[in-house]
Amino acid sequence: MKLRLSMLSIFAALILSSPALWAQDLGPGFTKVKDGIYVFASKEGNSTCSIVLTQEGAVVIDSCQTPLDTQKFSAGIKKLTDKPIRFLIDTEVHNDHTFGHYVFSPPAVVINHEGAGEGMKKNFDPKRIETLKAQSPEMSEAVKNYKFIPPQIEYKDKMTINLGERTFELLYLKNVHSEADTAIWLPKERVLFAASAANVKSIINLRPFVTIPDILASYKLMKSLNPEVVVPGHGPVSTTKIFDEYEGFYTLLLKRVTEMANQGKSLDGKSLDEIKKELKMPEYADWAGQDRLGVNIDVAYKSVKK
Ligand SMILES: [Zn+2]
Repeated sequence: MKLRLSMLSIFAALILSSPALWAQDLGPGFTKVKDGIYVFASKEGNSTCSIVLTQEGAVVIDSCQTPLDTQKFSAGIKKLTDKPIRFLIDTEVHNDHTFGHYVFSPPAVVINHEGAGEGMKKNFDPKRIETLKAQSPEMSEAVKNYKFIPPQIEYKDKMTINLGERTFELLYLKNVHSEADTAIWLPKERVLFAASAANVKSIINLRPFVTIPDILASYKLMKSLNPEVVVPGHGPVSTTKIFDEYEGFYTLLLKRVTEMANQGKSLDGKSLDEIKKELKMPEYADWAGQDRLGVNIDVAYKSVKK
């Protein structure tokens, strides 16, 4: 018995001291991408938040869907490292990626592209705090220390961070999803955090300022990096195949909207309302978010009629 106990404690010590923890040791929702790189989402469809360890401290990417998620994510990080979180990089400005900043910053320095702070203010929902508090006592507790934290650093077009043994290249994705979208590329590890330019089999809510040519350009840019692993803003870890899938979706959508808008040359073609009633995308019937097809048609129509 004594021997077994000491064996157990040696085993426990080995696990605790090992830098390569298994994802399941961190709690449910964690996935190991590569050594020192983990992603977390408490359930399918929730935003992805990620942690990258370096010898000089950690880098967090996005601060999770809800304050409870941020809490679970933070507890997992504490099992991985006792080094400080140096930077928190945002892939977009929306609440479901940025609300949890207060858990990490200060001391973490928050970074996103120019316009991110403004975008966060614009998208901020003051009712969100009360709504969350009403959900459960646990959520209410998690949101207790909430504070609005916009990025302390806003870069322009491109930024490189060298921290310890790793390099992080921040690439601005213009007009793709929110007021400031950043893809994060780790060239040595060939891991790409792709923001919400593409998710996994889900029709994305497109805001009016987004353009389909800009979305398609972002896929081209990200594919040219030749990543081995692609981490989307929502949905499981994947590869560049998600860019191909969405490229197919938007190209077909644009083709159908163009044809309908130009139908009957003597007339002006179908109106936006008529197109929205008639246009179907049965090839993508298994994608989530079918109720967002209408806003996707709005955005496609805008690029056809400009
Ligand atoms: Zn978003």
